[in-house]
Amino acid sequence: MKSLMRRLLRVSNRSILAFIFLFSLSSSCLYFIYVAPGIANTYLFMVQAQGIMLRDNVKTIGHMIRQYTNKNATLNGTDFPDGTNSTEFTAQSSMYLPENFTFSPNLPCPEKLPFMRGPTSINMSEIGLEDAYQLLSQETEIGRGGHWKPNDCIPRWKVAILIPFRNRHEHLPILFRHLIPMLQKQRLEFAFYVIEQAGTQTFNRAMLFNIGFKEAMKDRKWDCVIFHDVDHIPENDRNYYGCGEMPRHFAAKLDKYMYILPYDEFFGGVSGLTVEQFKKINGFPNAFWGWGGEDDDLWNRVHYSGYNVSRPEGDIGKYKSIPHHHRGEVQFLGRYKLLRYSKERQYLDGLSNLIYAPNIIIKHLYKNITVHLVPELAPVKDY
Ligand code: UDP
Ligand code: MN
Repeated sequence: MKSLMRRLLRVSNRSILAFIFLFSLSSSCLYFIYVAPGIANTYLFMVQAQGIMLRDNVKTIGHMIRQYTNKNATLNGTDFPDGTNSTEFTAQSSMYLPENFTFSPNLPCPEKLPFMRGPTSINMSEIGLEDAYQLLSQETEIGRGGHWKPNDCIPRWKVAILIPFRNRHEHLPILFRHLIPMLQKQRLEFAFYVIEQAGTQTFNRAMLFNIGFKEAMKDRKWDCVIFHDVDHIPENDRNYYGCGEMPRHFAAKLDKYMYILPYDEFFGGVSGLTVEQFKKINGFPNAFWGWGGEDDDLWNRVHYSGYNVSRPEGDIGKYKSIPHHHRGEVQFLGRYKLLRYSKERQYLDGLSNLIYAPNIIIKHLYKNITVHLVPELAPVKDY
């Protein structure tokens, strides 16, 4: 009897230890996903993407085997292989204007300009803001606040570029060093608005965008607004930063997601809407504090208002992320509940219910708008 008890006790001791071990392992995993959602997301996606790539490889091997056996079956082996289709890239690249195209100051700038050659070189080395400004203003003059417009044709779009910001000072000049030459090649009129969050609240990317939009509208007759993460560098200068009939998702292929769109409704990183479209959807929601969900809510708003989202073709929508050591924000766990009520909240929370007091400084390359954010700036009535 005694020995049976002891044996039972021994077994349960061991299982208690195993339980404690598994419990602490899984809770540290969950904690990691919570505090570093960006990194966790990248890892989870990599696993998924490897699965997709494996599937594609299997398909290719299957195709090769089929081709091989087909070859043996036919006498001369000149059958066209089925299913291989690589016309996408060649078809689109031929439509760009030739080098000798002549511009006219009285005509709208074309959209497919000869300077837009495709993949661009990317330089991730750090540089000071002032050095970046000196470098960029060597070729043409850049106005205060990073304002620029072409003088050899009439810009097709006047684009306000909004960048949500807190404590990523080394990213800004890297972004400008790539974006400004690209936008100049695309003959767009543009300026930059860096909306900086002050205070101790968790980060609110969406509210910063709403504030940036309202401030930009006071400045100039912008007709297109781009919502741009500070750490996203476009890899292809044919990724045209103008707007269109439909809201656009520019950052379709991110290096951190192995250049695969993570899910069909993904609308994060870099997106763009006309001023009219953005007003119609009542802007971003203000209620998303911390990492995640605000971009999905914007997707919902766009669709509830009867729009679809367009994306650049093929490799044009590729982006590199600036590597960083910031931990970023903790996950916003309340996002799932808010997303369930996207529709009910659309016209209660957004551009319409936002009051704030900005602190504005105009710099060489951008306008800095600092705001102390608290939830009380955007009260929402019950829904
Ligand atoms: N951001 C920032 N400071 C922060 C958190 C976010 O400036 O502490 C801005 C920045 O523009 C960044 C964007 O919000 O590119 C998205 O945040 P983050 O890069 O952390 O998200 P992830 O890329 O991990 O999804
Ligand atoms: Mn990022």
